[in-house]
Amino acid sequence: MSSLEVISKNENTMSVKLKDIPLQYSNALRRLCLNGVPVFAIDTVDIIENSSVLPDEGLAHRLGLVPIKTDLTRFNEPEKCECHSESGCSNCRVMLVLDSGDTDVTKAVLSDELTSEDDSVKPVSDKIPIVQLAPGQRVKVECYARLGRGREHAKWNASNIATLVETDKDNERILTVESTGALNPEDIILAGVEELRNRMGEFKDVLEQLKAD
Ligand SMILES: [Zn+2]
Repeated sequence: MSSLEVISKNENTMSVKLKDIPLQYSNALRRLCLNGVPVFAIDTVDIIENSSVLPDEGLAHRLGLVPIKTDLTRFNEPEKCECHSESGCSNCRVMLVLDSGDTDVTKAVLSDELTSEDDSVKPVSDKIPIVQLAPGQRVKVECYARLGRGREHAKWNASNIATLVETDKDNERILTVESTGALNPEDIILAGVEELRNRMGEFKDVLEQLKAD
């Protein structure tokens, strides 16, 4: 009988033993854990002021790569949200603002200066450098974060690494997932299993439809 057993777990990394699960499904699960589970990332940035040496696109890119804590139970992916709105709603979009203010010393703007309108959706760490400012320079931006998947852009990858290693036993492999911090690794694996189940279901429906035709 196929089984999935937790063999080690800490804050950001988890390993599970996959027993009697065919290689192609095990590998599909690994890929889903890497880039098929939705997490938040900053997607749109409105630059109100940027007198730093970093061009606007560079600043937006830096902000997009900041891992954001994600609560999958409360938010919808935009294309599945009932608002059906291009601009989004409070169930599918979260605004974060950053205003460095004026500085008279050289300083690094860190992720702790990003203030979110939703307490549960914020950078996973306070110490991620975003931009360096010289005296007199300032950045002021409004950012919008949304759920997305890593296959669209790597900034939505749920995991830094997801590996599948053979053991010396027949048909037994170890899946190890290292989270970016957006989700805990357990939730990534559970969401990956759920996603795999959905896709298998859809595939079966398509096959049955073909047969019926
Ligand atoms: Zn919405």
